[in-house]
Amino acid sequence: MPTLSPTPPAIPPLTPPPSRTAVVRRARRIGRELALLYPDAHCELDFTTPLELLVATILSAQCTDKRVNLITPVLFGRYVTAADYAAADRNDIEKIIQSCGFFRAKTTSIIGLGHALCDRFGGEVPRRLSDLVTLPGVGRKTANVLLGNAFGIPGITVDTHFGRLSRRFGWTTEDDPVKVEHEVGALFPRSEWTVLSHRLIWHGRRVCHSRRPACGACGVGALCPSYGEGPTDPALALKLVKAGPFS
Ligand code: SF4
Repeated sequence: MPTLSPTPPAIPPLTPPPSRTAVVRRARRIGRELALLYPDAHCELDFTTPLELLVATILSAQCTDKRVNLITPVLFGRYVTAADYAAADRNDIEKIIQSCGFFRAKTTSIIGLGHALCDRFGGEVPRRLSDLVTLPGVGRKTANVLLGNAFGIPGITVDTHFGRLSRRFGWTTEDDPVKVEHEVGALFPRSEWTVLSHRLIWHGRRVCHSRRPACGACGVGALCPSYGEGPTDPALALKLVKAGPFS
């Protein structure tokens, strides 16, 4: 009599990865929800000219926008043009910006910025990313802040919040900011890039924190594949929400 071989264990069906269309749809739904949550999201640095924004953005490295906004009225009152920065007394600038951290390096960048703008761009802030990134203290993130907020040219600002939230939303698996910028940029129309950056940064500052995201109080929790990464109990989560403003 033939022996019966044991029934093999059932193989669970493979879940196919979501289609590109599904990924784009979900990303844009989250984008729309964030737009409703943060209808007035904007750059939280105070400025009135492209040069002021450039200097404020350099100062904001490793520092809060709120702190920068306390410093810049004095700085911008004393230094108005690129030539003013180029001719600046470094002790004076260091004294003004001392409380925003790395003040010596930032002073070097700001004075160097003044020289570079005068020497190569007629004292004006250039409008091209490829030119902006050649300036002292200006990386791709700062350049995109400038393009989007001073010149109305769409730019994605991948700071720590934008990168973290993009990964939590499943929009990218990349850590490299340039790759994040390109992958997320491909999910949204160009016209939305700047405001999308603000909305993600606002949500990251207020709700979706690095260590304990307030999932139970999150307005996009129903759409977020990372729901549950932080407390889901609404009362507990609500205590984690930071109200802002951050400027
Ligand atoms: S559900 Fe949680 S992880 Fe997802 S965005 Fe909201 S706070 Fe962040």
